[in-house]
Amino acid sequence: MSQRFDLVILGSGSTAFAAALRAAELGKTAMMTEARIVGGTCVNRGCLPSKNLIEAARIVYESAHPRYPGLAPARVGIDFRTLAQQKDEIIHGYRQKKYESLLSGRISIEKGHVRFADPHTVEVDGKQLVGEKVLIATGSRPSIPEVEGLSDLPYITSDLLTADERAELIDLPESILIIGGGYIALELGQMFRRFGSQVTILERGEQLLSRGYEPEVGREIEKIFESEGVHVVTRANVKRVGQENGRPVVRASVGGRECEFRAEKLFVATGRRPNSDQIAIERAGVETNNGGEVIVDETLRTNVPHIFAAGDVIGHQNKSQMATPVGSHDGGIAAGNALSGDEPRRIDHRVIPRVIFTDPQVGIVGLTEEQAIAEGHPCWCNTVPMSLVPRAGAIRDTRGIIKMVADHKTEEVLGVSMVGSNAGEVIHEAAMALRFRAKVRDFIDLLHVYPTMAEALKIIAISRFKDPAKLSCCAE
Ligand SMILES: Cc1cc2nc3c(=O)[nH]c(=O)nc-3n(C[C@H](O)[C@H](O)[C@H](O)COP(=O)(O)OP(=O)(O)OC[C@H]3O[C@@H](n4cnc5c(N)ncnc54)[C@H](O)[C@@H]3O)c2cc1C
Repeated sequence: MSQRFDLVILGSGSTAFAAALRAAELGKTAMMTEARIVGGTCVNRGCLPSKNLIEAARIVYESAHPRYPGLAPARVGIDFRTLAQQKDEIIHGYRQKKYESLLSGRISIEKGHVRFADPHTVEVDGKQLVGEKVLIATGSRPSIPEVEGLSDLPYITSDLLTADERAELIDLPESILIIGGGYIALELGQMFRRFGSQVTILERGEQLLSRGYEPEVGREIEKIFESEGVHVVTRANVKRVGQENGRPVVRASVGGRECEFRAEKLFVATGRRPNSDQIAIERAGVETNNGGEVIVDETLRTNVPHIFAAGDVIGHQNKSQMATPVGSHDGGIAAGNALSGDEPRRIDHRVIPRVIFTDPQVGIVGLTEEQAIAEGHPCWCNTVPMSLVPRAGAIRDTRGIIKMVADHKTEEVLGVSMVGSNAGEVIHEAAMALRFRAKVRDFIDLLHVYPTMAEALKIIAISRFKDPAKLSCCAE
């Protein structure tokens, strides 16, 4: 028995929901499929639970380390099980409001593992769903490196934040070893440290955030982490993993020296890979690249004309990023292109602001210096410390830096990276500026509210022309 739909969607995450809603707006039917929990990674085990618990950890840390003389440190008691439970309430509420309640006559979900049977048909637990058009939105999962012994012992992944699944971590580990120094390792590593765990991060590169970021960013975060007692080990090449007395032991070569690391829990945070390998994609004839990313063109169409793909499953194709707003934006575009019959809309990944929710936050948009040079721009760039930003001084939080990259000839701003209080909010000004191809002077001429962290953008722009350390208040 088979059922027919205008759009069959593999997955039910934020990308899939955006596509299903667009299909319904166009008066079409959409059927999603889900092997795990409706709503996908962001709401169930990604953005939402991590940001919920990171904020709780910030409260604990700030109470114990007040920045103001005159405020006495206070110890906030931690009941980790209750914290984990309150996170589940938030997940359940959001899942209901933003996902489950959107199911309607036109939008439905079939639960179970989905695989292609042929280019128009997928199978879920023996049921056949036929799509006039098909969207692959199966997201990504933690990518596990091939390390001797790793498959023989229990370890945790970013799935630890889940609710309603066995991978959830409900007891606070006394110590935790993290393999990987990317954004998930940093966000959760600092969180665990602030809750009281001993945390060691083993990073293969020369520094944290070693790929795709300005080098100043990783170095700054490393300094801040060390000051909080997070043990960061760079140039750590993990060779073998074993167990002693039921606890993980990691053997690594650190800058050529053999070292052993022990902890109660091992957390593998070595990136994410697209979920394209478990859906019998070859039966649909859809091409993927070596990294498993589904190959799409600028309209999100695969090599099979009626099959589209969007979200984490396309990885970094077309300068995409694995982030919820990117998938949601593109999911709607893919469904529109598949179903509307209008001129296909092209995706625009030129400006994607990103944030790492460490404390202080990291906000990034556009090109790094290295990328700008590689693209042939004659480059102007500069970095200034947050101590030059009046608000940072006023609130006694001068941690961080801001770096701007611009084209030396045209003065167009090409990229901004900021480590600092509220960088996640500030970066939106830079993103809008990049969208409209603003010049260095535009950041100077825009009147910024005093004293705000957004003034960091004005100050770094001023540094193009004069020494920002010699400014009076907010004068240029
Ligand atoms: C710890 C963590 C923190 C994060 N924080 C942020 C953040 O702060 N901000 C941000 O923008 N992004 C964040 N992300 C990334 C964000 O969660 C993802 O980019 C986003 O959820 C991807 O959406 P998607 O719809 O493409 O895929 P997903 O949400 O992963 O949805 C795909 C769905 O398809 C299902 N599926 C896969 N294969 C099959 C199959 N064969 N059969 C049936 N179902 C299948 C999966 O179970 C999943 O539910 C975070 C991720 C993690 C892990």
